[in-house]
Amino acid sequence: NQPTPAYGRVLLKISGEALMGDQGYGLHPPTVERIAREVKAVRDLGVEICMVIGGGNIFRGLQGSAQGMERTTADYMGMLATVMNALAMQSALESLGVFCRVITAIRMDEVAEPYIRRRAVRHLEKKRVIIFAAGTGNPYFTTDTAATLRANEMACEAIFKGTKVDGVYDKDPVKHADANRYDEITYDDVLQKNLKVMDASAIALARDNDLPIIVFSLDEPGGFRGILAGQGTYTIVH
Ligand code: UDP
Repeated sequence: NQPTPAYGRVLLKISGEALMGDQGYGLHPPTVERIAREVKAVRDLGVEICMVIGGGNIFRGLQGSAQGMERTTADYMGMLATVMNALAMQSALESLGVFCRVITAIRMDEVAEPYIRRRAVRHLEKKRVIIFAAGTGNPYFTTDTAATLRANEMACEAIFKGTKVDGVYDKDPVKHADANRYDEITYDDVLQKNLKVMDASAIALARDNDLPIIVFSLDEPGGFRGILAGQGTYTIVH
């Protein structure tokens, strides 16, 4: 008896740092595989899944520019970092038997497909997981904004933001024992209270298109699947 998923098509956004495990940098293949299993569990419910993975475990444009690099060049390096993460996730998903396509916003035909919206939608309809790489393809953006943009373009019903904690809190729950988790919160409250959900331009883009953001813990085994089956704790921003 399969539980009925609450959404038919979703986008999962994770930061690059989610892939580095306990290392301070780079990719930790067992961690990538663990997350791939979480994705597979949701795919096995019949949910259509897109993913956007950040690049902060390898390179962030702002850090590069703070060290004297030209900003747009540094941002392109950050976008290339997301391609490496996407390829690692593709490899992990395929090793679990999940069909998967990496679609890049910066053309590199030998490595991944270019972004063509209708083609991407077709992959989803065929139940392939798609990973959008290279962000929006533009400097000065983040992968949070890329996630919101692609979720809108793909007509996803929600963005799932996988983090280390099970939702949005009024203060950092790692540092404050009395922090309270919101069950739900509005986009405007997130912006006004400056809560760390996604960056402000991504929140505004989600708000303007009525795209709910579900913040949940990726460290909780089976948590992603649980939420789609109507269980678990999370915060919905809507
Ligand atoms: N980036 C960019 N344009 C985009 C998406 C990303 O220039 O549309 C660059 C930017 O330099 C950013 C880096 O890629 O710092 C990695 O992405 P992000 O910081 O969003 O990764 P995360 O924090 O989610 O790991």
